[in-house]
Amino acid sequence: MCGIVGYLGEGNVYDVLVKGLHRLEYRGYDSAGIALVNPNGNINIYKTMGKVDNLEKFCQDKDLKALAGIAHTRWATHGEPSDNNAHPHFSDDGEIALVHNGTIENYKLLKDALIQHGCQFHSETDTEVLVQLIEYVKLTNKCSLLDAVREALKQVIGAYAIAVIEKNNPDTIIAARKSSPLVIGIGEDATFLASDATPIVEYTKNVVYLKDEEVAVIRRGKPLKLVNLDNEETNIDVTTLKLSISQLEKGGYPHFMLKEIFEQPSTLRDCIRGRVVEDGKRIMLNGVNDNKERFLKAKRVVFVACGTSWHAALLGKYLIQDMCHLPVEVEYASEFRYSNPVLDEHDIVIAISQSGETADTLAAIKMARKAGSFVYGISNVVGSSIPRETHSGTYIHVGPEIGVASTKAFTGQVMVLTMLALSIAQLKNTLPQEKINELGKYILQIPDLVEQVLKLNEKIERLSLIYTYARNFLYLGRGYSYPVALEGALKLKEISYIHAEGYPAAEMKHGPIALIDEEMPSVIIAPKDHLYDKIVNNVQQVKARGGNIIAIVTEGDKVIKNIADHVLEVPEMPECLTPIISSIPLQLLSYYIAINKGKNVDMPRNLAKSVTVE
Ligand code: GLU
Repeated sequence: MCGIVGYLGEGNVYDVLVKGLHRLEYRGYDSAGIALVNPNGNINIYKTMGKVDNLEKFCQDKDLKALAGIAHTRWATHGEPSDNNAHPHFSDDGEIALVHNGTIENYKLLKDALIQHGCQFHSETDTEVLVQLIEYVKLTNKCSLLDAVREALKQVIGAYAIAVIEKNNPDTIIAARKSSPLVIGIGEDATFLASDATPIVEYTKNVVYLKDEEVAVIRRGKPLKLVNLDNEETNIDVTTLKLSISQLEKGGYPHFMLKEIFEQPSTLRDCIRGRVVEDGKRIMLNGVNDNKERFLKAKRVVFVACGTSWHAALLGKYLIQDMCHLPVEVEYASEFRYSNPVLDEHDIVIAISQSGETADTLAAIKMARKAGSFVYGISNVVGSSIPRETHSGTYIHVGPEIGVASTKAFTGQVMVLTMLALSIAQLKNTLPQEKINELGKYILQIPDLVEQVLKLNEKIERLSLIYTYARNFLYLGRGYSYPVALEGALKLKEISYIHAEGYPAAEMKHGPIALIDEEMPSVIIAPKDHLYDKIVNNVQQVKARGGNIIAIVTEGDKVIKNIADHVLEVPEMPECLTPIISSIPLQLLSYYIAINKGKNVDMPRNLAKSVTVE
């Protein structure tokens, strides 16, 4: 899931690369490194464990003059996080340097063969195999760097986005991708490359998204050239970026996560804009309207997703079952891809991923397409792989999410799923028009209601102090609040490292109830819905065992208020719309508990934002 950056141009190479690495740090922060081709044609590599700040300190007294360079921030897959395993990696003869995002599945085989040829390895990474192989091909075939890269990549199985430079050639960078993202930025007197557009946007809005098995030849003073692995030129489709720099900065908040939590009224407005029209009477999702036949003939919906997106998918199941009378299954993409899913052309497979690059979800999409299913993507990053690999889909349009723990992307996904269910219901006539009107009207109010819920901020901050040192948490909910409980527990785990379990509230008595005592708080999501009386029972059961309870309740609730230790009141909503509202206090609770514990909420240990490896 690493981030890679490259730059060839007239500006300050080191500055552009380091700034780019900071923007990509959400993708991994085990180590950072940089390779600079200096005016004498030598390559200097500086790399070190830890975050990009460490790299900057390390580079303070180094020779940073350069005409071109490549850089990397790592999320280790092969070999522990260490200085040695940090990228860039040199070839054995020190002629070639390379950075890589992805995993090379046949690295062991290739490595053994290269060792047989006398090649010496200096790290435990799969990546080093690539650079050694390129050197080997270059020396054996006496060919150019481009030809060596192409030929080497033909032997590779796995996922890669790479950038390669060579000694004595400060005028060329070769880059290529397969299954890992890579964007090329075309400036006036510079060319950029990066894992996503964020390091590029402040220099140029003209970008090219590389396709699988495409190789980019970046040359000083010459236009960009793209070829396939057989050296045939391919088309260059230049896209104009809509991203702005202000979207990438903290805007006065101490952390991206808090900024993103507070952005939700406006991100939800952006998500809904133009999609709920005529004062809530009609839902307009182009992805559905342009494919009416496929939705009408669908006999089943299968969701594939990972992590937070999987929780959104579970809500999607409830929404589609309730509104569209279609059977729905929800699968972890990583399990789905290695199972034998029975799919056909009557299935709609909905893939959800914030980044649009989740490796397991992309693999699931490929399987579904092969089986003839109609594949619909829900993602945030415009131009990412999922929107390109699916038949149709919807962007959540919540802007770049930098905090590693997802917040605004989750609510955006749930919002899109709600609109998707309504628009399928509208198409199939499975919901009365009055019901669609009523829900449409409420959807239009959601951004204002989220604003209201955010006023709980200070209360939650105070509450968090009481529970900062709890070692375990239970999150309970029923119906639409069950996926909210799962997501609440995940948020807490991710950023505070406190063990938390999300559970269907009624299942608690089949096991987890044994854990309850005065040291294990329960967070119970209990809005006024058709299961309210049932959850009141569950609240009582927890209390009867001496557990402390934080309850998310509907404004004016009296019953739970009398039982729970703390209540956080949220506005009354139709049942299917409560998840967006009730997940906001849970985001804030995890944020403050993690902050109280002194954790780095934007970059929790061991995690990375977009999981582009298996
Ligand atoms: N497999 C490479 C490594 O471990 C790159 C990892 C990645 O892209 O996440 O260094």
